[in-house]
Amino acid sequence: MDTMFSEAELRIVNSVASYLSVMSKHLPDDVFDRLSEMRKNEKNDGAKAVYDCMFKNLDMAVTLDRPICQDTGLIQFFIKAGSGFPYLANLKNILTEAVRIATEVTPLRPNAVDTFREKNSGNNIAVGSPWIEWDIVSGSDDAEIEIYMAGGGCSLPGKALVLMPSAGYEGVAKAVLETVCDRGINACPPLIVGVGIGTCADSAGLLSKKALLRGVGTENPDKDAQKLEKMLFEGLNNIGIGPNGITGTESVLDVHVEFAAHHPATLAVGISVGCWATRYGRIHFNSDLSYEIKTHGGVTL
Ligand code: SF4
Repeated sequence: MDTMFSEAELRIVNSVASYLSVMSKHLPDDVFDRLSEMRKNEKNDGAKAVYDCMFKNLDMAVTLDRPICQDTGLIQFFIKAGSGFPYLANLKNILTEAVRIATEVTPLRPNAVDTFREKNSGNNIAVGSPWIEWDIVSGSDDAEIEIYMAGGGCSLPGKALVLMPSAGYEGVAKAVLETVCDRGINACPPLIVGVGIGTCADSAGLLSKKALLRGVGTENPDKDAQKLEKMLFEGLNNIGIGPNGITGTESVLDVHVEFAAHHPATLAVGISVGCWATRYGRIHFNSDLSYEIKTHGGVTL
């Protein structure tokens, strides 16, 4: 890469590259804890054996120092940065370089395929890869970086559609249930289901990904959204998809709903799905580059 980095910028490059490597080998604490709970709750002997394999897989990833899953995804960043964060201007290049290094060093699987030429770039850097979403906060000088490793199987069920408003919230629920029943099995259950509601397919889709990353065990503060989360959680668990879809006591790690106001003439719903090995992380940088990792307890870079 031609971009030159200052010494401080290189610290961010190396921290994010190391964190990507950690994320590929360790589940975030919330996903691990809920998966452990699901293993305890499981009543089906076959499903129990699948959970045991998952935990053996997690142990071996640590012992062998290898990614949990061969599909380390395409990297997506969701940035919430203060307008005064001193490294904001070069942050896109910093994150791109971090992905290049993590791909080489970890190694991560190269997954970025040029859409029209069908050629893999070999380093996870390509048009729109890594994918970066920005949220700039005025008056602040720190930055929170949320990272998601978007695997192929777990991205496959993703959907965004615009309903007639008369479909109502029953229509939203139907879209979620149909999507999970149709393709959820491709996404290596148990699943995290993120639901976004808004006006357009694009905003609903983005909200659904943000919902997915909100943290297992969290609830939307809005009472009605909470009601929908609970209803979908119970409904999907009652289907009993089980781990890896072999039938079991539960189907989902969690269901999260995020929403924005919708146009009176449209009701858009986005659905994003994460797998049992949902690899996401959140790191907070202060302006002096001290940092806090919020999703993987005890990790230092
Ligand atoms: S869905 Fe998840 S666990 Fe399954 S292959 Fe994809 S990344 Fe790996």
